[in-house]
Amino acid sequence: MTFINLSVWISALIGVIIIAWIRSFDIYEKETFMAMIWAFLAGGITAVMIALGVYEFLRIFGLEDEVISNTLGSLLVIGPVEEFAKLMGLVVVYALIRKQFNELTDGIIYMSCVALGFSIIENFFYANSGEGTQYLLVYRAFISTPAHISFSVIIGYAWYRYKKENKPFSTVIVALAIASILHGVFDALAFSPWFNFLLLIYLWLILRQSLRLVQYTNVVSPFRPEFKELFDSPSGEKAEGIGCPNCGSSAPKELCRNSFFTSCRCDDCGYQIASRNDIRKIFRIFAPEYKRLSKKLVPARFNDGRTVMSVYGSAFFGHSGSTGFFRVEEVAGRLQAINDELLDRFRKRSFISANLLRRFFE
Ligand SMILES: [Zn+2]
Repeated sequence: MTFINLSVWISALIGVIIIAWIRSFDIYEKETFMAMIWAFLAGGITAVMIALGVYEFLRIFGLEDEVISNTLGSLLVIGPVEEFAKLMGLVVVYALIRKQFNELTDGIIYMSCVALGFSIIENFFYANSGEGTQYLLVYRAFISTPAHISFSVIIGYAWYRYKKENKPFSTVIVALAIASILHGVFDALAFSPWFNFLLLIYLWLILRQSLRLVQYTNVVSPFRPEFKELFDSPSGEKAEGIGCPNCGSSAPKELCRNSFFTSCRCDDCGYQIASRNDIRKIFRIFAPEYKRLSKKLVPARFNDGRTVMSVYGSAFFGHSGSTGFFRVEEVAGRLQAINDELLDRFRKRSFISANLLRRFFE
């Protein structure tokens, strides 16, 4: 197996891993892998064909690769052409699986699949195009694939709002312009011998911005259940032999089971008891910060003098650290506060957009 072949397989593998990773941000009503792979293929192929077609057309006017491989070409040609091509990929995907688009997050999810398809197919072309491609492929797989996805998420966002929330078509045009600029600047930095050291910082900034957009769509998702309500209908099952990490009671405990987590209630002290992993899930699912649990842990002191580790002072861990306990009201309040802060941060302190996004999209 040649290095080039290997690289193509590696980039395809990276593609699948990224699809799985993207899917992990689609929390409440997950898209199927089939639909996502379908979007990846159909959207990716459409986007590549359109981009190739437009580039071919531009050659008539003397806009060869060498002419556009610079700052001006990146901003005026490559960015707009490729983002337009990816938008067309999304249009095709939307025509094929319209019914799957039922929340704002889905616009971003399918757009990401299209961008991923575009990038992987593009890598394949580069791999077969001859010299000097080894470095390029590794570079492309690790840098340009995530970059392609992060330029375009805003298009998926705007497309959903245009199609499903009756926003004017100008939202899509604005999103296309933003994506084209992000893309153009990225390529301009990549072509520049003096400024390409800024590339990774720039990529990090737009990835972070994309993540905020995803967070925002998660926070406003209509499929996000109310955390408190999940405790309203008891399962009727009892968990036996579980020692309460708070008061030590080993009486049978009422189980609360749902598709997100499992916990049980200690009747002696009134705390809910859940495994560390279930508590991690609660904070990942109901307050989509996407931080590791260890980053959310702070020491908390109880009135009786005990000091324990807690998740933001609202869910606590016993001595073993493997089982936690919490009051539903306290965790619900904390989740609400985190979500409010995420919304606030998205609206006021975002890198591209802040008020800009609000003006165009709300
Ligand atoms: Zn207890």
